[in-house]
Amino acid sequence: MNAASPLPGHGATHAVFNQVPAFADVNLFEADAALRDAVTFNAPGLHTGALAALGERAGSAALQRHARLANLHGPVLHTHDRVGHRVDEVEFHPSYHVLLGAALRERLHGAPWAPGGPGHVERAAGFLLFTQLEPSVLCPVSMTYAVTPALRANPALQQAFGGLLASADYDPSFKLASAKSAITMGMGMTEKQGGSDVRANTTRAVHDGSDVWGERYRVLGHKWFMSAPMSDAFLVVAQTAAGPTCFFLPRWLPDGTLNAMRIQRLKHKLGNHANASSEVEFVDAFAWRVGEEGRGLPQILAMGALTRLDCALGTAGLMRGALALALHHAAHRMAFGKRLAEQALMRNVLADLALESEAATALALRVARAVDRSEDAGAPVAEREHEALLRRVLTPAAKYWVCKRGSHFAQEAMECLGGNGYVEGEGEGVMARIYREMPLNSIWEGAGNIMALDLLRALRSGPVAAALQRETQAARGAHPLLDRALARLLVRVEDGVDETAARRFARDLALAVQASLLAQTAPASVFAAFCDSRLDGAPDAFGQLPAGIDVDAVLGRAGLQ
Ligand SMILES: Cc1cc2nc3c(=O)[nH]c(=O)nc-3n(C[C@H](O)[C@H](O)[C@H](O)COP(=O)(O)OP(=O)(O)OC[C@H]3O[C@@H](n4cnc5c(N)ncnc54)[C@H](O)[C@@H]3O)c2cc1C
Repeated sequence: MNAASPLPGHGATHAVFNQVPAFADVNLFEADAALRDAVTFNAPGLHTGALAALGERAGSAALQRHARLANLHGPVLHTHDRVGHRVDEVEFHPSYHVLLGAALRERLHGAPWAPGGPGHVERAAGFLLFTQLEPSVLCPVSMTYAVTPALRANPALQQAFGGLLASADYDPSFKLASAKSAITMGMGMTEKQGGSDVRANTTRAVHDGSDVWGERYRVLGHKWFMSAPMSDAFLVVAQTAAGPTCFFLPRWLPDGTLNAMRIQRLKHKLGNHANASSEVEFVDAFAWRVGEEGRGLPQILAMGALTRLDCALGTAGLMRGALALALHHAAHRMAFGKRLAEQALMRNVLADLALESEAATALALRVARAVDRSEDAGAPVAEREHEALLRRVLTPAAKYWVCKRGSHFAQEAMECLGGNGYVEGEGEGVMARIYREMPLNSIWEGAGNIMALDLLRALRSGPVAAALQRETQAARGAHPLLDRALARLLVRVEDGVDETAARRFARDLALAVQASLLAQTAPASVFAAFCDSRLDGAPDAFGQLPAGIDVDAVLGRAGLQ
């Protein structure tokens, strides 16, 4: 120290204090009472040791470092090799491979469809936890989850690849799928002239013969968004004479040559930086038919229902991740002589976020249970039918409302961190990464309007009013606002809903089902706070919880220290 200087060190101007320690090495499962209770409710008797282990890994500083690096050093496309041959290869940072390998080892992809695999609820809880570590790598994981059952429509392909799609291994080598120890698959539907409107596809498929993989076609056309282009194969849609049809299109052909899929460029996206999303062209690429000609749309809807569930799960996970960061910050940061967590208005904001997060988790896991129960061949037929109908109705409602709330949620959680929340630095600003990721779950796999309109179609798919009545029966009488909301909802289900009111209906359905779930999974204080703040007028800005709500109990439940 310079003896003449009053400052603490040579050249120092100040001491750094009142900054918040890193949120790291936290067991994300153990810290999340809402998730643990939702798992117990939807998968009673499940041994949660594997989820606790996953929660520890997903919250570890070691994997967080890989998430930072994978987002900082995004994928790079190599269209040609050194001497001019087309290679169409995407190079990822080693941290991406660490993360994708970790997600596959956690069996978050095709594993629930394989004998001895995890149930869909367990897998959903794992997906929700892993999202908090890194959502981008879950794009190929989710697509693999959705595609695996779709391959049943071509038994030869199912036989050849079903096991590899469920393998807990990760094999990033770029070679023939059947020569690998594990594979992932992507999906190609969206074209320049239309994404939601898949019928507008211009890509054509022409019959070319048949072989051990079934009916073989040549595909000519393009896809405008095709994520994870280093997947081993893709489920693509192309037009045949009978209409849109699904095809299995591998990167490598059985003769060891590269299939004619040209990656034109990678998208520069707002967020989701670790994941590669590409524009591709098929130049008479070989593809094998999956299902009948002209039956592509129902197959896409079945796959879409699974990836839409993952959008709701992913958003619920990102909400929980953002909430945990906000709680952590508020617990440490001082302002005006008190911790932020002790300031009444900040407590109102945090408690409101906690309610939203818990309700999103409850609804998303309920949809996962509907998948489990409707796929359970051992369950009574009536039970399976009931769960299949709920799955049909609740998937678009959950995708719509949970994802729609995601961006507002991220903005508010970011604000809890003040200016530090807006700064991403060298990738260590996790809140900024969450904020950029949030809108994506609302857009892909069917944007908001498409979800709301799909929900209206779902109302015509069976006795929905009776199914909802049965689903919410356990919560009847628990809160007058919920009773009123349910009564209004059932009238609208019976009377039919006008297209222009579809979003309002989707919101009201999601809120009523969320409340009825919280009546069964959450402490009474959380349930009452949710009803009081959301069922008496639509929620808008966070932090307006009415007087009388037990904010202390809500924050204690959320894990505020
Ligand atoms: C990062 C990223 C990765 C992606 N990866 C893939 C991928 O791997 N594979 C793939 O196939 N696709 C992928 N997509 C595409 C994505 O699924 C579509 O962008 C999405 O489904 C919307 O389709 P669109 O972009 O063509 O928009 P459009 O269909 O043009 O829709 C635009 C807007 O109009 C609304 N709209 C459409 N029709 C109606 C209607 N009838 N009434 C009212 N409103 C309507 C929609 O809700 C939306 O808000 C990806 C997208 C992104 C952003």
